[in-house]
Amino acid sequence: MNLLHGKIALITGASAPNGIGRAIAHKLAENGASVVVTDVAGDLLINDQSHCRLELLKSLVAEIDGTGRTAMWLDLDVTNATDIERCVSRVLRKFGRIDLLVNNAGSTIGADNFLSTTAEQWEKSFQVNILGPMMLCKAVIPQMQTNGGGRIINIGSTGSLGAEAGFGAYTAMKHGLAGMSKTLAAEFGKDGILCNTVCPGYIETDMHLAVNARLASENNLAIEQVKERRYTAVAVRSAGTPQDVADAVVYLSGPNSAYVTGINLPVSGGVPFGI
Ligand code: NAP
Repeated sequence: MNLLHGKIALITGASAPNGIGRAIAHKLAENGASVVVTDVAGDLLINDQSHCRLELLKSLVAEIDGTGRTAMWLDLDVTNATDIERCVSRVLRKFGRIDLLVNNAGSTIGADNFLSTTAEQWEKSFQVNILGPMMLCKAVIPQMQTNGGGRIINIGSTGSLGAEAGFGAYTAMKHGLAGMSKTLAAEFGKDGILCNTVCPGYIETDMHLAVNARLASENNLAIEQVKERRYTAVAVRSAGTPQDVADAVVYLSGPNSAYVTGINLPVSGGVPFGI
């Protein structure tokens, strides 16, 4: 599978072992792209166990190298303009171009009942979910223009399309991210740059399992009851996998979507978008 042969991809928020970013990195590499995987430095807590994110990124690079594809890792806090500048120039020095930008890093901070959220949480959510992707797009678009085009894929959510109660800032920011994608699609289509938003529904990552746990504790329910309630609303009656989302990213990165821009693509098994 070499649909993306010769393409250079930059992916944010890619360290989590069970995360969407890691699955995207694997699928883009499987399809022939060279991938730069990034995440914010620090520890990731999974089931009360602490894991060093940069070690997780190194293990991802080793997995991809083991398949004969090319990967490199960099630490990148998407809210830090200096980090973005350093990271983009490192990638350009090594590979000479960035063809695909996948803004996957996201934060569920402020995903709570509206009245319990704080202005500080909204501010932090804005920085990670919108300002970071905006700064990265500004950093990579000029060289995409010079190189004759590129693809930007923003990872939104079904919370980019509608709202369910209890997700406060997260829903607002994911709507904003989808709006930014459309702006980029409108403004840079003439330069061969396509920009789309992939909108995952219920995907069984650690982030999703943590939301299930929170809903269980808030509503005094067992996890299985929360799953039953949430997935009843899904047409296919189950959660999806990170690989399902990665397949959509491969489609939007490759030649089969050459005339597709400015869309929100739900990968949700038919979950209703709420209000
Ligand atoms: P994840 O593993 O937590 O992935 C998000 C990654 O971004 C995490 O490693 C996160 O670190 C990182 N991140 C947070 N702040 C960052 C920053 N300032 N700079 C760089 N990286 C940062 O969760 P996921 O479920 O795979 O989610 C991936 C994307 O899909 C997110 O945009 C999420 O909103 C979206 N999504 C997921 C689902 C789902 O069901 N899982 C549904 C809809 C949309 P921290 O852990 O420290 O925050």
